[in-house]
Amino acid sequence: MIKTEIYLDGNATSAVLPAAIAAAVDAMAERFGNPSSSHAAGLKAKALMEGVRQRGARLLGAGDGKLLFTSGATEGIQTAVLSALCAVRARRAAGEAVGSLLVYGATEHKAVPEALAHWNRLLGLDLELCALPVDQDGRHDLAALRGLAGRAALVCTMAANNETGVISDLAGIEAVLRAGASAAYWLVDCVQALGKLTLELAATRIDYAPFSGHKLYAPKGIGMLYVRAGAPFTALMMGGGQEGGLRSGTENMVGIAALGAVLEALEGGGTFRSHAELAGVRARLADSLRAALPGVVFNNPFAKALPTTLNFSVPGLASGELMDVFDAAGLRVSAGSACSAKKAAPSYVLDAMGLPAWRSSGAIRLSFGALIDDASVAEACARIVRCGEALRASCLLPSAQAPLPHDGVVQLGVEGECSWLVLDAAGRSCVVIDALAEHGERIEQFVRCQQYRVRAILASAAGP
Ligand code: PLP
Repeated sequence: MIKTEIYLDGNATSAVLPAAIAAAVDAMAERFGNPSSSHAAGLKAKALMEGVRQRGARLLGAGDGKLLFTSGATEGIQTAVLSALCAVRARRAAGEAVGSLLVYGATEHKAVPEALAHWNRLLGLDLELCALPVDQDGRHDLAALRGLAGRAALVCTMAANNETGVISDLAGIEAVLRAGASAAYWLVDCVQALGKLTLELAATRIDYAPFSGHKLYAPKGIGMLYVRAGAPFTALMMGGGQEGGLRSGTENMVGIAALGAVLEALEGGGTFRSHAELAGVRARLADSLRAALPGVVFNNPFAKALPTTLNFSVPGLASGELMDVFDAAGLRVSAGSACSAKKAAPSYVLDAMGLPAWRSSGAIRLSFGALIDDASVAEACARIVRCGEALRASCLLPSAQAPLPHDGVVQLGVEGECSWLVLDAAGRSCVVIDALAEHGERIEQFVRCQQYRVRAILASAAGP
């Protein structure tokens, strides 16, 4: 059955796996005990919880490290940063040389630099935050890391990027940290890697690895944090001593049960599509985008990225324009930037990769989950082709065909700047508002293509 909405924003969040919904319902109806209670109801819940933890530890290769349940990756990141920084403070107070830099990949999710700044300030550490550059493919600059590692107190590098799907060279980063005998703690945000990359955490030098359930078909509000055996730990929340005193608060049993069902599906195999199949889906979607949108450029190198993420820009089209047409076609994708008022904020991830402004501010991310079925892919491809036709018919893309007379408001945006046209199809006329000089050619081309008369050119605010 073809759905009216095709969800292609899997890196933002996912639907919940039917088996996870069933497990959540079972946890509420049958296994609702408090895992800290010593009676049978509590023991049943505890058995469920520990079973999920063991499965998670097996899948992640957690070895003798700890695996705690958290509310999600943001909490896991806070806990990891707090733990590392408390240890840095104690070591510094004891006269040890601990490094003065908090190094984080320039394309990290904002949760990482924000947590670093927050806890650095709160703990009065006065360490320097230092963004580690990435190359044009979005991979960490290992030469730059080599130069920083000796002075780093903590290094944070994600396993895969949420905007581009670019997979980090964790082995390369580890080699740099080892070669420099860096004493820095190492946090790896593994949110986008769960279920998509093989992880053997205990076999690495990684100290902390946060995960989030809702990126892989579990519900929102459940996550995990891996802590290497021997890595320092400071609890973020104190109270009843749950999770062995590492994270107080009655556990989210519904989330844990649901996450358990997802982990079971991962471990058992057969539920999620293989890497090769997903790469095939990406190729089909990319072909449709190429056919529909002349000049489309992909902002992520497919060979170095998760197969489930496409990030693209179209010359002359703002992300807002593309989002509108995709949304109207029932394709739920996301913009790398938001064209709210006059300025579209460029993507800091694409900026860090050194892409030109038009690509960074006009980027669209199309990401899908490993449950995607072929009928949805075929329908998505057909709708992408129709999006291209609609853009041509409305003069937003060059076309030889006669345009559809346009009515209403059209926002034109190039390189992060927006101008507007108010169009009256019946009167075959339009009003141009806040026309930016750099849009002159586009506005002219649009008006000529529509064969409208320009009745007025207005500015919404006095110029400087
Ligand atoms: N890190 C990355 C790479 C993410 O993609 C996200 C979510 O978008 C987070 C961290 C935050 O995760 P959560 O929503 O579980 O707090």
